[in-house]
Amino acid sequence: MAQSMTKYVFVTGGVLSGLGKGITAASIGNLLKARGLRVNLQKCDPYLNVDAGILNPREHGECFVTKDGAETDLDLGHYERFIDEEMTAASSLMSGRVLKKLIEDERAGKFEGDDVQIIPHLTGAIQDWIIKAGEGFDVHIVEIGGTVGDYESLSFIEAIRELGLKTGLNNCLYVHVVYLPYLSASNELKTKPAQNSVRELRGLGITPDVLVCRSEQSSSQSVIKKLSLFSGVPVDSIAALPNADSIYRVPLTLEKAGIADVIALKLGFNVKKPDLSEWQSVVDKATTAYPKTLKIGFVAKYMDNTDTYMSVFEALKAAAWHNSANITIDWINAAKYDAPGSDIGAVLKSYDGIVVPGGFGQRGLEGKIKAAQYALTQQKPYLGLCLGLQMAVIAAARNAGLTEANTFELDPDGQNLVIITMDGQADKLMTGGTMRLGNYNCRLEEGTLAHKVYNQLDIVERHRHRGECNNNYLKDYQTWGIKASGFNPDSNLVEVIEGINHPFFLASQYHPEFKSRPNRPHPMFNGFIQALLER
Ligand code: GLN
Repeated sequence: MAQSMTKYVFVTGGVLSGLGKGITAASIGNLLKARGLRVNLQKCDPYLNVDAGILNPREHGECFVTKDGAETDLDLGHYERFIDEEMTAASSLMSGRVLKKLIEDERAGKFEGDDVQIIPHLTGAIQDWIIKAGEGFDVHIVEIGGTVGDYESLSFIEAIRELGLKTGLNNCLYVHVVYLPYLSASNELKTKPAQNSVRELRGLGITPDVLVCRSEQSSSQSVIKKLSLFSGVPVDSIAALPNADSIYRVPLTLEKAGIADVIALKLGFNVKKPDLSEWQSVVDKATTAYPKTLKIGFVAKYMDNTDTYMSVFEALKAAAWHNSANITIDWINAAKYDAPGSDIGAVLKSYDGIVVPGGFGQRGLEGKIKAAQYALTQQKPYLGLCLGLQMAVIAAARNAGLTEANTFELDPDGQNLVIITMDGQADKLMTGGTMRLGNYNCRLEEGTLAHKVYNQLDIVERHRHRGECNNNYLKDYQTWGIKASGFNPDSNLVEVIEGINHPFFLASQYHPEFKSRPNRPHPMFNGFIQALLER
C-alpha cells in the first residue's frame, strides 16, 4: 500500500517529564506498522550535544547504537523493539547536530550575507532533518524530547508547527502526552494540569489532535469527558494510559482506546485491520509468573539508574520469557571488589549466572575481572558484553598465571596488555564519535558454542568500543582455557570468545543486546538463559 507522500505524527509531552513519550511514540509505530504502513520514528532531543556518545549514562541512561554507528538516545531502543525495524543515524537528532551544521554553513558562506536566525534558519534546518528522516516511509513519527514550554525545546516545537503548515494539516497530526495526577483526598484523577499543558501547546501554535493521558490509576470515562470539554480534543481522540504491568502492553491499551484508527483516519490512510496476535503473545509471556525463577548476578558500575542498561535488561527478560522462566537481576557493585583480596565469589555463589555488561573507565574493572575469574574456575555460566569480553580475556590469562595481564584502560603502559586500542585511538578517550561503532561482520568457527547458539556462521552485530583483543596473545588462549570463536573477516579482530570445557562461558566484543527483540530474543541471551535452565 505504498503512499507517495510521507505523513507525520508529532509526539510532544506536558505536565511532567518521564511520562513515557518514547514508549507512546513506539507503540503508535507498532500499531501503524500492524496496519500495513511503512513506519519510521525519530527522536528530537533539545540537548546541545551533537549526539549521545559522551553523555553520562548515569544521568541520561543507555547510549543506544544504530546499525550505521550513531550513538543515540535510548528511546531508539524502544523504537526498534516496538516496531522491529532497525533505525539509522537519521532517527536521532540532537540540537547540537543542527546547530553545528548551521554554523558550518554560515562559515562556508551558504547564507550569502543574510542574517542567520532561529526562525527561519534553525527551524528550517530542523525541518530538513525531519523531512529527510521520513523519506520513503508512509508515516514518520517524530518525538520531541523534554516538556512543552521548556525554553530548550522551543525551536523544535516551532519547527513542527511550521512543518504542519507546509505539509497541510491533513498530512500531519499532533499527539500530546499528559499526566493526570491522583488526589487521594477526593479519590479522583485531576485534569487541570493537562488542560494547562494543552493551553501551553496552543499558545505555541499547535492544536493537539490526540491526547494520551498517563496516570497511576485507571481513569473513568467522566474524567476523559471533562478533559475533552476543557481541552477541545474529542473524546474518541483521548486515550487513558494507566500504569501497565509491562511496557509492551502499551500498544494493546492504545489499540483498545482506538487511537491508531483515529490517527489512520485523520491522516487519510486506507489501512488493513491489524493482527496483533503475536504482540499479544509477547505481552502474555512478559506478564506470566512462571514456576522457575533464574537469579542473575549483574556485575556493573552504574548502580542507581536502570535506564543505564535498558537494552541488556530487556534482552535478558525477553530470553527468559521465551524459555518460560522469570528472572531477577541483582546489581553487584563491581567497584566494591576492586581492592586486592576482596572476594566477589562469596556474593556470586548464590546466582545461577553472571552477566558483565559494557562500560568505560577504570572504576570496577578489577571487580569485573574477578567475577570472570570466578565464573571460569567455578564453572558458573557467564555472559560478557563488550567490556565483559575484555575482562574475561584478562581473567583467563591471570587464572593461567599471567598475573600482569591487563587492558589499556587500566594500565596504558602495562607489559602484558591482552586488550589494546586500535591504531590512533589511544589519545581519544573522551572524544565523541571516535570508537569502532555500528555494524561489523563476524564469522563464527564451526562447532563452537557461539556457532551453536546462533545456529549460523556469518553474523552482523553492533559495536561501540576502543579496545580490542591483542592478537599477539591468541596462541596462548587455549592454555588459558578459552578460545576465540568469532573474528571480523576483514580485520581479523576477535569478536567472540568462549570457555573451553565450561558449561557456558560466552562473551562478545560487540553489543548483542541492541538486536534483541521482545518477540525474538537474541541468540546469545537465549543460549545463556537455556544454559541456566539446563543446570
Ligand atoms: N571501555 C571498553 C572499550 O572502550 C569497553 C567498551 C564497552 O563496553 N562498550 O573498549
